[in-house]
Parts: sequence; C-alpha cells; structure tokens
Amino acid sequence: MFRNLILLIAIAAAVWLISRMIKNKALQSSSKPVQKNEIKNIVQCHVCKVFIPEDKSVKQDQYSFCSHEHLQQWQEEQ
Ligand SMILES: [Zn+2]
Repeated sequence: MFRNLILLIAIAAAVWLISRMIKNKALQSSSKPVQKNEIKNIVQCHVCKVFIPEDKSVKQDQYSFCSHEHLQQWQEEQ
C-alpha cells in the first residue's frame, strides 16, 4: 500500500516535470523566431542614426528613415 503511494507520487512528479519541459520548449520555439526576425530587420535612420525595426521604417531608394519627418528633412537637403 505504502509502496503504491510512493509510486503514484513518483509518476505524478514525472508527469509534472515532462509537462513543464514541453511548456518551456513551446515557449522557446515560439519566442526564438521573433527574436531572429527582430535582429534581421533592424535598420538605421539615415538622418538621426537611430535603429528601428524595418517594418516600422520609411523607405526611400536604398535609405531607411525612422519617420516621414526625417524622410522629408533628407529630401529637402538634397
Ligand atoms: Zn530619424
């Protein structure tokens, strides 16, 4: 009887550990591609040199800008 109880606790602990490992793996695999993309798509504003995600930047020719104001500023300087 006592042995069965220990066995039951051991199984419960093993199941809890495995489910925690699966959760951690799921979190890692879902957060890693996002980080990779962020690093891949960082661009620098041609005017103020600030680093911004590419999807939030304003593109003109081969240059990137943090805002439309800086794009205009750069165009006026040309
Ligand atoms: Zn800027």
